[in-house]
Amino acid sequence: MYIIYVRRTMATTDRGVGQRVEDAKEGMNMTTMMKKADRQMKALCAVVVMVLAVTAASAADLDSWRAGTVVSAQEVTRYGVDRCFAIEQISDAVFARMRYSYMPNPHIARADLRYLRLLHRDAHDRIVLGEMVCHRRIAADLVAIFRQLYDAHYPIARMVLVDEYRADDETSMRANNTSCFCYRTVAGSRKVSAHAMGMAVDINPLYNPYVKRRANGRLFIQPANAEPYTHRERRFDYKIERGDLCHRLFLQHGFSWGGAWRSLKDYQHFEKPF
Ligand SMILES: [Zn+2]
Repeated sequence: MYIIYVRRTMATTDRGVGQRVEDAKEGMNMTTMMKKADRQMKALCAVVVMVLAVTAASAADLDSWRAGTVVSAQEVTRYGVDRCFAIEQISDAVFARMRYSYMPNPHIARADLRYLRLLHRDAHDRIVLGEMVCHRRIAADLVAIFRQLYDAHYPIARMVLVDEYRADDETSMRANNTSCFCYRTVAGSRKVSAHAMGMAVDINPLYNPYVKRRANGRLFIQPANAEPYTHRERRFDYKIERGDLCHRLFLQHGFSWGGAWRSLKDYQHFEKPF
């Protein structure tokens, strides 16, 4: 967009110079020429204003930060990449969106949580706006980890609040949505999970499922459509394995990996003690 306007601006200027020479040849007086130059200058200013308006509109897109939006590298540069990896208090607007994942409870307060703006790359290496709610104690860890994953072009399919799926875990996982906070007690107990405390992250969950062998020998898989990705000896995109960049970064920041558990495997899951 910018280049088109610059070219138009240059063409306008070139035409202006050529026309002024023609005008002089025709013996136009100085006042007429000045008026004409003034008009041309106004036209040039209008083009500059339009260019600025286009730039401002792009910045506004990143200001409103609708997670899931694909943005260009130029937009990110203009906005400032550091501003795209930010830790914020839970604003009223975000809190209103969290009506499915948060409820009054004795374990975690709104003030303990943080909203993260993050960038990530998808499987086509496009830049996507991401977001996450987590415990304040791991906010800096997550910003550092996701910044390095972004810089390394590590693919993450989607990163929006679980509330976009009405906090339904299965639906969010089927959508391959990377997420962190979701308040709930562990089924059949009063225990809270690491996700309920905002201390655990699930990365690309469709391709890194939760797998548990039941007493009858059959596998329990979450999400239910992730059976092809339980074969961890296979190679496929988004697969997390011991020693890869994602695994290394989380371990460096003091997280443990669900893929290393013995009783069950939760390949998508990294958590920090709480
Ligand atoms: Zn998890």
